Amino acid sequence: MTVQSLWAATAQPAPALQSLEGERQCDVVIIGAGYTGLSAARHIADSGREPLIVDANTLAWGASGRNGGVVSPKFRVGFSALMARYDRDTALHMYRTGYAAVDSLVETVETLGLTDASLHMGGHIAAAHNVHALAGLESTANWIKRETGGASSVMIPADQVREMTGSTIFAGGLLTPKAGGIHPLNYARGIARHLTDRGVKVFINSAAQRVTHEGDRVIVQTPQGRVSARQVIYATNGYSDQTRVTDSLHRRLIPFRSAIIATEPLPAHVLATLMPGGQVCGDTKRMLRWFRVVGDRLIFGGRGAFGKNDSSSAFDDLQRSMAVVFPILRDYKIAYRWSGLVAMTLDYLPHAGKLDERSYYAIGYNGGGVAMSTWMGKQLSAMTAGENVELGLLAGDTFKPIPLHAFRAPGVRLAAGWQQFLDVIGR
Ligand SMILES: Cc1cc2nc3c(=O)[nH]c(=O)nc-3n(C[C@H](O)[C@H](O)[C@H](O)COP(=O)(O)OP(=O)(O)OC[C@H]3O[C@@H](n4cnc5c(N)ncnc54)[C@H](O)[C@@H]3O)c2cc1C
Repeated sequence: MTVQSLWAATAQPAPALQSLEGERQCDVVIIGAGYTGLSAARHIADSGREPLIVDANTLAWGASGRNGGVVSPKFRVGFSALMARYDRDTALHMYRTGYAAVDSLVETVETLGLTDASLHMGGHIAAAHNVHALAGLESTANWIKRETGGASSVMIPADQVREMTGSTIFAGGLLTPKAGGIHPLNYARGIARHLTDRGVKVFINSAAQRVTHEGDRVIVQTPQGRVSARQVIYATNGYSDQTRVTDSLHRRLIPFRSAIIATEPLPAHVLATLMPGGQVCGDTKRMLRWFRVVGDRLIFGGRGAFGKNDSSSAFDDLQRSMAVVFPILRDYKIAYRWSGLVAMTLDYLPHAGKLDERSYYAIGYNGGGVAMSTWMGKQLSAMTAGENVELGLLAGDTFKPIPLHAFRAPGVRLAAGWQQFLDVIGR
């Protein structure tokens, strides 16, 4: 089984980057060259400070180079649920934050001129896999109408979902026009190119192996180098297990493997039936399945406890799911398959905060971080500049290490099995 992503096969070349050798000084050292780290670096540089990024692997080697490229303002937790649990202002703050994240991504693409990122804001369809889920979508649409007075997401009946997706299996859907798709690896490489063009240092193959505090400086040690900075940002998300320096963050996360397949090029008559309006689509299952058309292929992704490494059975499982959603694709081959880790949190929300006076982080995007991590990077820049940032529920105050974290692997399998079971019995 060959594991290669469509993105790696179609991306523009990455900027030439070296590993860190010798001593460096900067204002803010950023650990992790995904969207969070890259976006933080961009805004820190904009504010006149000097950032420097180190990544243990290559540029956007983590989720930022492997995701589905779905750009959406939604969180995994519904607004009416947030309002029931907290209050109206909290739910409205989250709603606005979701859209601020999308704005932040669009602004980045436009300001930096990232045409290779192929951003297309064609809208997102949340497609209900049963009537129970349809009622959940209706409650979201009603909440938006009632509490915001707007129609940023609207219900669409089953026959319209059929026309818009090409699939007959959904009970109806929720259309969110301000959403879309992007080439995720080109997006990351584009921001990195902007950074290196303006002289920001980005080092790859340079794992932060030790982080210490010496007086008012933070020292980050890599295999062949050392950075001395005023502050440090941890932007390691689902890959916070690369070295021990992010142990305390890793213990707050439950990494779930998420897999994606891309078909071989499809003939025009087949393509014409799939997402003809250019929307991206995700279903309402707990173990979410999502799909979009990219060029002349369909890409289809899903989450699950697929294990520590890529497995052919997980990809076969996805292919079977794809054939259920789109029987017309049953006989087409899969040309690309790949996977990555999404960082789940106990409250299904991302969090940003401070570990100590000089150390900041933003992690836990729960599989919805393309826009959100771009926005979080901007917030991290403001936080390290000493600005007061209003994060609401996304603040780090309640974000603590998970008890019995060492048992997460069997726990993930159990939880995933239970969620799959609930999906199968239609609850
Ligand atoms: C398969 C998949 C599909 C997804 N699909 C979507 C989607 O369609 N839409 C959406 O919104 N979100 C999606 N996501 C989530 C989204 O990709 C992430 O939320 C986002 O990319 C997180 O970016 P990040 O910069 O925080 O982390 P990452 O991109 O994961 O970057 C973390 C980096 O930290 C580095 N690192 C770790 N430890 C160290 C160390 N000690 N020293 C130096 N470097 C270190 C790693 O090498 C890595 O490059 C998906 C994720 C996956 C895995």
